[in-house]
Amino acid sequence: SGFGALGLDARIVDALGYDDPSPIQRESIPHVLAGKDLVGLAATGTGKTAAFALPMIHLLSQETGRRRGVSAIVLVPTRELAMQVCKSVQTYGKPVGVTALAVYGGTAYGEQIQTIRRGVDVIVATPGRALDLIRKGKMPLETIRFVVLDEADEMLDMGFAEDIEAILSETPSTRQTMLFSATMPPRIESIASQHLTEPVRVRV
Ligand code: AMP
Repeated sequence: SGFGALGLDARIVDALGYDDPSPIQRESIPHVLAGKDLVGLAATGTGKTAAFALPMIHLLSQETGRRRGVSAIVLVPTRELAMQVCKSVQTYGKPVGVTALAVYGGTAYGEQIQTIRRGVDVIVATPGRALDLIRKGKMPLETIRFVVLDEADEMLDMGFAEDIEAILSETPSTRQTMLFSATMPPRIESIASQHLTEPVRVRV
């Protein structure tokens, strides 16, 4: 029982600070660890952040000879969520040396670009700013292993559909992709069927 049975590095689980996985975590984590794409129908407050972050961090920490460069992009609808998810990834990633940076609009580019250049593993970003950095050539995508769409329905409501599709189209097709949403309108189903590979579906 507990997180250990799911196959996660104990150091990452200890950093989370809970003993028992929530339903979305119990159902998602083994599939992500097995390399599957995932569609999670889950609202906020269900523990979905750890459901994608823990196995992603586990897999990144196990890749020996990891290349310098960004390994994962997590797209979120708002600056507040970017800061919050980034803080979680930093906390869970710290014991295994996985780093994160939050990137969102309305702030200067300079420091974000410098941090990316120095080397960071996970970028947690709002779609518009992520695409800005990609277009400026400041966020190379060749090293991307994971793309996560968090609160996909909220991102669509905020008009980010085209930005999300552009980012998905430009990241390597060998990436592992996870999509979380509280609702599944047709546009999200369409993004899932076009950009995810035989995703496992989990709902809580
Ligand atoms: P989220 O749905 O990711 O926004 O998480 C909601 C809250 O649940 C956060 O405050 C987490 O710290 C907490 N949480 C995450 N995983 C668990 C767990 N396995 N047991 C209890 N609480 C958790």
